[in-house]
Amino acid sequence: MTESLSPSSPDQFQKELLSLVKSVKGQVLNAENLYIEVDWKKPLPPKKINIEATDKERFHDLCKEVADCQRCPLAGTRKNIVFGDGNAAAKIVFVGEAPGADEDEQGLPFVGRAGQLLTKIINAMGLERKDVYICNILKCRPPGNRNPLPDEIRLCEPFLKQQLQRISPQIICALGSFAAKTLLRTETPITALRGRFHFYEGIKLMPTYHPAYLLRNPSAKKQVWEDVQMIIKEIEAG
Ligand code: SF4
Repeated sequence: MTESLSPSSPDQFQKELLSLVKSVKGQVLNAENLYIEVDWKKPLPPKKINIEATDKERFHDLCKEVADCQRCPLAGTRKNIVFGDGNAAAKIVFVGEAPGADEDEQGLPFVGRAGQLLTKIINAMGLERKDVYICNILKCRPPGNRNPLPDEIRLCEPFLKQQLQRISPQIICALGSFAAKTLLRTETPITALRGRFHFYEGIKLMPTYHPAYLLRNPSAKKQVWEDVQMIIKEIEAG
């Protein structure tokens, strides 16, 4: 302590000042993270959303149609088709870009680390996965998780449109830049799209950051939290 108050040279004083600044900066960053974590750990109370029981029959013929789809070259590299999962009468549908490796392996959407974070987000909204529907624009995994190609989107998007027509949700939440920009036919960055409602096929759409992005950039959780709270308010208002 005495030493730090009485540096022996200007150089030492500069070093000690730098170390002090780093330590204070670290504490502020930790506090920010803590704030965000606390936010996530304070989920909204369970929602009384009037959702019908899961109705798999609603998708029966469409599932059969997609089951052996050979429309695009991804049919040759996929392990499983990832049609979608959740409540076929949900008020909220989460739409991502395309399945990843875990999803391709299991045939289910959002089951990897990003999927676990999505589950936390849904829980923080006062809901469970069985209360919502989760799917992707593409039903098959692009090799190496590359971005979907325009032709693949053109050929696969009709399946998504049919899913949405049958579910008839109140809100779509587009997860990530690619999904948001593809569905909204825009090049506007996600930073400018998120935080307000748009429309896709006549349905209100809220773009927000992809859970995989949140894993790399935890500070963006705050914005996602704001976006999903807007969704919940919209659902509650009916
Ligand atoms: S991505 Fe879509 S269009 Fe392409 S093979 Fe899979 S289901 Fe068919």
